Amino acid sequence: MKFDINTITRDNVKVLKPYSSARDEFEDFDTADMVFLDANENPYNSGVNRYPDPQQASVKSILAKQHNRSQNQMLLGNGSDEVLDLIFRAFCEPKKDNVITLPPTYGMYGVLANINAIENREVLLSTDFQPQIDKIFKAIDDNTKMIFLCSPNNPTGNSFSEESVVTLLEKFKGLIVIDEAYIDFSEKESWLKKIDQYPNLIITQTLSKAYGLAGIRLGICYASAEIISVLNKIKPPYNVNELTQKRALERLNDTKAIKHEIESIIEQREKLLKVLLEVSFVKKIYPTEANFVLIKVDDANKRYDDLIAKGIVIRNRTTQPLCENTLRLTIGTEEENKKLIEALKA
Ligand SMILES: *Cc1c(COP(=O)(O)O)cnc(C)c1O
Repeated sequence: MKFDINTITRDNVKVLKPYSSARDEFEDFDTADMVFLDANENPYNSGVNRYPDPQQASVKSILAKQHNRSQNQMLLGNGSDEVLDLIFRAFCEPKKDNVITLPPTYGMYGVLANINAIENREVLLSTDFQPQIDKIFKAIDDNTKMIFLCSPNNPTGNSFSEESVVTLLEKFKGLIVIDEAYIDFSEKESWLKKIDQYPNLIITQTLSKAYGLAGIRLGICYASAEIISVLNKIKPPYNVNELTQKRALERLNDTKAIKHEIESIIEQREKLLKVLLEVSFVKKIYPTEANFVLIKVDDANKRYDDLIAKGIVIRNRTTQPLCENTLRLTIGTEEENKKLIEALKA
């Protein structure tokens, strides 16, 4: 089916004239010897007395190089949570449109749907945690604007089959949002390269997990330049602050350290998986391509409480659909994992 951004975008967003900040109107603002008297800033230099670059050009330029994308195919936000919220607000008409999510999955999609007064049509994953394509198409109607695919999925840890993602990309005329928060822990390739091929594809990534920067809040949205330009119209002008841009830049340049940490986490994950096989109350270990593992135990509430009493906090997922008696364990440092293993074996 043919994707048409004009039928997807909300009418008020189509006609919107975005707020134009002082720094938008004068874009070359890092020209060193200019005198800036345009934004009512305090002129005394503290490193952060100036407004940040609204388009985060230096961060985007590294990302563009590393991922072989152009800067007009990306939008940065205050965590992926802001990026996801912008996507809702650009394309979904409150009290009219709906989206499809595939539980058990990341809870923010449903929360954002609620905040924006958008109906959330939940189509459960299969028992092996794959999208049920037939059921998804039955749930779609003329007002279905987006389908959220979290791959690798949180909390299950697996990624979705290429075949089902392609089917959705090709047969659904709305937007497919693939949340790749955990892609760096997976051997599967990112869907990033497919952006040129599929005009309805949006990919979100984050510096919060593999990149170790949850505290600075930086999320990334990759899509066609057309989609990005719609999102740019509605984003708050200075949504990514100066300190965040600086830290992101430093970290993104340190590819060696990032690679090393990801490798160590994966090594620790494989170690933990082996040990879990020997824990008597662990009934099932789900395959994982992320920095966590979902396990089924005899009594999730009891095991959760026992671990808390030993000073170890994990995530109890027992109330999630298809996740009865499951616990989600994040992979920590070697030392942290030792403590977890000792506690599990005790
Ligand atoms: C942790 C996580 C994120 C990260 O969100 P940020 O707002 O970028 O910190 C996004 N999606 C999923 C599925 C996650 O688990």
